[in-house]
Amino acid sequence: MKAVIGRRYRRLLVPYAGEAWQDLVRFLRETQTLITGSSARTMFLGDVEHDMRDLNLVVPPTSFNILDEFLINTLGYVCISVISHPAMALGIKQFRKYTKQGKVMTLASPPKDKNILHTILSTPTTADMIYMTTGGVTCLYPQWLDQRVAICSGTGNLVLSTDKLGCAGELHDELRVKLGTAFIGEACGNRCPTLWHHIQEKHMRKSTDWDLSDSVTKTFFNVDIEWRLNTYCENPACRYNFEIMAGNLETLGAFNRMWTLKQKHDSPLTLGDRFRRQVFARRDTLSPACKTPIDDHMQDS
Ligand SMILES: [Zn+2]
Repeated sequence: MKAVIGRRYRRLLVPYAGEAWQDLVRFLRETQTLITGSSARTMFLGDVEHDMRDLNLVVPPTSFNILDEFLINTLGYVCISVISHPAMALGIKQFRKYTKQGKVMTLASPPKDKNILHTILSTPTTADMIYMTTGGVTCLYPQWLDQRVAICSGTGNLVLSTDKLGCAGELHDELRVKLGTAFIGEACGNRCPTLWHHIQEKHMRKSTDWDLSDSVTKTFFNVDIEWRLNTYCENPACRYNFEIMAGNLETLGAFNRMWTLKQKHDSPLTLGDRFRRQVFARRDTLSPACKTPIDDHMQDS
């Protein structure tokens, strides 16, 4: 099985690097670069038959120039833009877009005080919050992707209908792109976009490794990030929609944050405590029919 997945990975990269694809893998691994967007989604879903056009890379700030030189000098790509989409402004400090023979690659780095995952978490839909190392792939919203649905984050509305960024914007062939959760026709429960997630909450994500020497799970170690898709819910069946919108004074966007050790030390509650307290406060007000197996899973943790 792992050999099959390894071949799938190679098949995704060869169109972008030709015979130098193994050099590309080595550079990605050494610089701890993540691949996100449609290539990671294809890897996750296993549908590698159709041609990919974009390869989106997210690299730690200290390795941005190394990879930039590799793409230009070794792979022969030409830089065509240095400006990222406004919807990604919170998660990207450095950006470059390259092209070669109809293929497009992008390279992005988070601000220096942010983790590389902040860039992933700033994307405009849940379907873009999927990424891979050279050894594994992680999906942060597997329950939506399984249904081929992409829920827009708070920055999704910054992508115009004539525009396109990841899954947001123009019509999408493989996914239903939804502005919110109103289409489910019932209360959101723990699927509500206003619900905070924490990167350490294992049951909220789905990860698969095919090469443990570069396991995707290493991206979660010693990382203290929590985020939510939006600051309000537009689902009329969800009792939190207007309460959350009115009561929330924080900024828009797929807002995510990383706590420093000092902040954590100063806080009387751990992040896990605060997360669970928030979840259970909501859970207590849900009707039994709205509680999903994930709710029960949470209570066990
Ligand atoms: Zn909701």
